[in-house]
Amino acid sequence: TTKTSQSIIEQTDHYGARNYKPLPIVVSKAEGIWVEDPEGNRYLDMLSAYSAVNQGHRHPRIIQALKDQADRVTLTSRAFHNDQLGPWYEKICKLTNKEMALPMNTGAEAVETAIKAARRWAYDVKGIEDGKAEIIACEGNFHGRTMTAVSLSSEADNQRGFGPLLPGIKVIPYGDVDALKEAITENTAAFLFEPIQGEAGIVMPPEGFLKEAYDVCKENNVLYIADEIQAGLARTGKMFACDWENVDPDVLILGKALGGGVFPISCVVANEDILGVFNPGSHGSTFGGNPLACAVSVAALEVLEDEKLAERSKELGDYMLNELRSIDSDKIKEVRGKGLFIGVELTEPARKYCEALKEKGLLCKETHENVIRFAPPLVIEKNDLEWAIEKIKEVL
Ligand code: PLP
Repeated sequence: TTKTSQSIIEQTDHYGARNYKPLPIVVSKAEGIWVEDPEGNRYLDMLSAYSAVNQGHRHPRIIQALKDQADRVTLTSRAFHNDQLGPWYEKICKLTNKEMALPMNTGAEAVETAIKAARRWAYDVKGIEDGKAEIIACEGNFHGRTMTAVSLSSEADNQRGFGPLLPGIKVIPYGDVDALKEAITENTAAFLFEPIQGEAGIVMPPEGFLKEAYDVCKENNVLYIADEIQAGLARTGKMFACDWENVDPDVLILGKALGGGVFPISCVVANEDILGVFNPGSHGSTFGGNPLACAVSVAALEVLEDEKLAERSKELGDYMLNELRSIDSDKIKEVRGKGLFIGVELTEPARKYCEALKEKGLLCKETHENVIRFAPPLVIEKNDLEWAIEKIKEVL
């Protein structure tokens, strides 16, 4: 017997730690851009699991790769080789034009990995005195929920009650090149940033910042580390958000859509002079690089490329941005974004508008109180997007 949405929500609320506040909707099925609740109501997914489902829910090619691999081998640990890791390494390195990759499972773990790489690089390669390495991060950042990631955060809420935090972190205003210059010392290992801040509410740095910050890092022998976990992999209308300013980060952190919304996989990619600092035993993960994740990820990346999802995101994103900007409403403070990665900042809390959109069959989620994030699966068709925009116009 299928349970009702209400009974499922009650069960979830009863037994679950209260670290989330979901909209009152239960998803029990999904396909492409659509999700369905146990009562059979359909909703257009405008969140895509925070950009993990760029390829659409249950993309047939990715599901086929999952099934085929599930019938062969799913986990070996890294104590042995598996036959899917090599092909995945080659695929991700060629896509990013880097020499090496290191697979993990979640975004936050990949951020941990990048920080460990940067610190060890600082001591072994740059020659910083042991224990002194500093990382520069940005106000409003979101890099995950592990101790390292919350130590990087500038939000008191993310840190309250979790101290002592990781030392060696400096936070500068996002998009401020002069602040970056001032923050750099002889002990600076890396500058870590999101090319567009997703969780902060689709916040974009001033045009030119990505390139200028890159130049500053190069002048000072500081690693330029782009967290493209949410903005990367076709979301903003380019394969990587840093492509918008033609910069090639020293270290690229990927996750979410890397597994096509089907299986968790994240990674750090860089050249050998950086990722080469890891020796056997210095880092790892039981599930990192498992054959199921690798098989799924290769298929997920092929879908992004073969279906030209970056180009699609650009074209449909331009259209949607235009449409949203044409809405004449005193509730809207700003519409911003790149590709189908769009934030609508309201003059008041966004929650009730997300709830109203849900009633009209459109799922989205507020971020940072006043912002609605629109990030549909990139396989969306124009007519479905038009339908969604109509609903948004009705509500705003
Ligand atoms: N970095 C960025 C930019 C993110 O948007 C997120 C998740 O939203 C993370 C890191 C953390 O990823 P995960 O939730 O898979 O640990």
